[in-house]
Amino acid sequence: MASQGKLFVVSAPSGAGKTTLIREVLARFGELSYSISHTTRPPRKGETHGKDYFFTDEDRFRDLIDDGLMLEWARVHENYYGTSRAFVEESLEKGKSIILDIDVQGGRQIMDSGLALVSVFIMPPSLEVLEKRLTARNTDSEEVIRKRLDNARDEMEQRSFYDHVVVNDLLDEAVETLCRIFEVEMGAA
Ligand code: ADP
Ligand code: 5GP
Repeated sequence: MASQGKLFVVSAPSGAGKTTLIREVLARFGELSYSISHTTRPPRKGETHGKDYFFTDEDRFRDLIDDGLMLEWARVHENYYGTSRAFVEESLEKGKSIILDIDVQGGRQIMDSGLALVSVFIMPPSLEVLEKRLTARNTDSEEVIRKRLDNARDEMEQRSFYDHVVVNDLLDEAVETLCRIFEVEMGAA
């Protein structure tokens, strides 16, 4: 039997730089796969179905939950997001390591599920910087940004549940810190 892959859970308030950092980690570790979540959020400019997310409607999302196909799911900023149970279980059984980019509610569900995992929380340097990044990203309305900032405070309070906390201030430094964690945890150091 192949040895089990490692499960990495990465959470952060929206805009802290999780997508940017995870992209760098995936580029560096070819053996890592990204778990593509399902969401009822509409696609942003440049996002592709089946690459960034599986975009779906609320009825279909409910069916996935009712059929037990979600390993975890949560309502985040008024949309539903969830992780495919089959993708995670099959990858780990095949010995493949995977990254889940999920919110704190989902992260805590997986921590409570008994699955072995390595968890990383990405922090912005401050709420002011977070607001600037969300505004500069230019993908969300002012109202959506306000909601994300409100949520950020609650999420940051839960960072102590995570194995590692990485502050994304200078991008290059944060990439190096994060990659070092992956290197050590995957036994490649
Ligand atoms: P998240 O996935 O956590 O919502 P993104 O990766 O989309 O966040 O980053 C939010 C915005 O901040 C993007 O425009 C990104 O280019 C920018 N960004 C990410 N990390 C940094 C950093 N260390 N310094 C400055 N800007 C950053
Ligand atoms: P965004 O809309 O900016 O892509 O993501 C918003 C939030 O939803 C982020 O915190 C992201 O990590 C989280 N998210 C994305 N996919 C999932 C998922 O499958 N489950 C959970 N619980 N959260 C997710």
